[in-house]
Amino acid sequence: MNPEQLKEYLEFYRDLGVKEIYHAATRASTPDTQAAAPRTIAEPDIAIELPPIIPAGDTLESIRLDIGEECKRCRLCQDRNKIVFGVGDEQARLVFVGEGPGADEDAQGIPFVGRAGQLLTQMIEGTATKEGIPLKRADVYICNVVKCRPPENRTPQPDEMEICGQFLNRQLSVIRPRAICALGSTAAKAILGTKEGVTRLRGNWHKWKDIPVMVTYHPSYLLRPYNQNAKREAWEDLKKVLHFVYD
Ligand code: URA
Repeated sequence: MNPEQLKEYLEFYRDLGVKEIYHAATRASTPDTQAAAPRTIAEPDIAIELPPIIPAGDTLESIRLDIGEECKRCRLCQDRNKIVFGVGDEQARLVFVGEGPGADEDAQGIPFVGRAGQLLTQMIEGTATKEGIPLKRADVYICNVVKCRPPENRTPQPDEMEICGQFLNRQLSVIRPRAICALGSTAAKAILGTKEGVTRLRGNWHKWKDIPVMVTYHPSYLLRPYNQNAKREAWEDLKKVLHFVYD
């Protein structure tokens, strides 16, 4: 295990609430008999047995169980009513990822059920119908970067995204869709690790691991009346995604 992998493991366990680990020393020290010889730094022999970051045999159910009913891994637990895990076909070919639940989602425990959600449904089903693709909202999978509602619908903070992002990564790894559609800059940042805004990222394919990712505008942004141009662009992005996945 290299130091980068070790760092990832340790962060994973820290996010799960593990505060201490124990490392049994395994090496006997040998006397340095060749003091003049050039020294090479050996790879640390780390004997910590930790399960992989994506557990073998992972399922959406086991991810949900790992999150638990009373998750308190970050401050978003303080004001939430329901954890909003995700909804849709667990074998979906297409996954939409939003930012985080709003008030309606927090009340119902289902992502994208408020005004933005209604627009998303309309965008998916309307575009599919127009393009001759038989697709309903229930055929895709929809989830968010953070699973609990940020107070006043503020943008999730980096530590909240990092903690909950572990679960998003696992969801995407289990579903392994043909494509991912990131809705807005928070989803783009979580999935692509970029600071670029939607305007620059949208319309072109990116990658999460080996899965193509399309970034487009968040439906909440499209609900604002002065964003008609963005609406047209979002429809173009969606058309591209739907043809890529379902043709
Ligand atoms: N906005 C989001 O990003 N996600 C939801 O689930 C609802 C609104």
